[in-house]
Amino acid sequence: MRDLSNDHRWLSINTATLRKQGDLCAIVDACARHEIRAVAPWRDQIAAVGLDRAAKAIRDAGLALSGYCRGGLFTADAAHVQAMRDDNRRALDEAHTLGAPCLVLVVGGSSRDLPGARQMVADGIGAMLPHARASGVPLAIEPLHPMYAADRACVNTTRQALDICDRLDPHNEGGLGVALDVFHIWWDFEVHAQIARAGRRILAFHVCDWLVPMRDMLNDRGMMGDGVIDIPRLRESVEAAGFDGFIEVEIFSERWWSAPIDDVLTTCIARYRSVV
Ligand code: ZN
Repeated sequence: MRDLSNDHRWLSINTATLRKQGDLCAIVDACARHEIRAVAPWRDQIAAVGLDRAAKAIRDAGLALSGYCRGGLFTADAAHVQAMRDDNRRALDEAHTLGAPCLVLVVGGSSRDLPGARQMVADGIGAMLPHARASGVPLAIEPLHPMYAADRACVNTTRQALDICDRLDPHNEGGLGVALDVFHIWWDFEVHAQIARAGRRILAFHVCDWLVPMRDMLNDRGMMGDGVIDIPRLRESVEAAGFDGFIEVEIFSERWWSAPIDDVLTTCIARYRSVV
């Protein structure tokens, strides 16, 4: 397991963590100021400043990417399926332009037909996979906590995400894997066994914390160390499985969005070094 206590060379900041403090260029500047080496941008934040300008700002700051957020939403109704597929192609092309190591997929929620929704997700990912392979940008399925099954993602466990990978890419030819976020997976009784199973399919590792009580199921994530997740134990499993990439801080929080950008980054660095 890597020793993170001496520096923050493997820290990445998911730009949603700072979305209310400034635009993407301001976030990139702030990360560079704190000698952070990587970011994971969101599509809307890239679009707000323009793809070319964003790519240049990231490049000029010497930042790598730990992922690109996000594609997916495969459970669109029939009238919107083509638009969804076109949008996912654009997401892959943007990820390629930005040099992202993966496109994170939030797969879409389910109406009453949960098995049907899950089949649509597998079909949608399968349809995207050839373009992902051709672009050199693998797809990272992010299982979300089951509280989001209706509105965001009906893939809710690491096992489910890996079953989709095994079905669509049985010989592990690349182009498909998982993004594991401690917020979504910490409660799962078989998470460590599934992380071991995932092995090299782990394309991204996201950290934050689970607050008790949680005031809002979307925008009240905690800073690492402020909640109940045993983050080092999960990181140990992820790294034992072979993951050696960036550790991405992804916090959607009204509390942290109202703090000054430098205070948030200083805290992220301190907690990364002490409790991740
Ligand atoms: Zn995440």
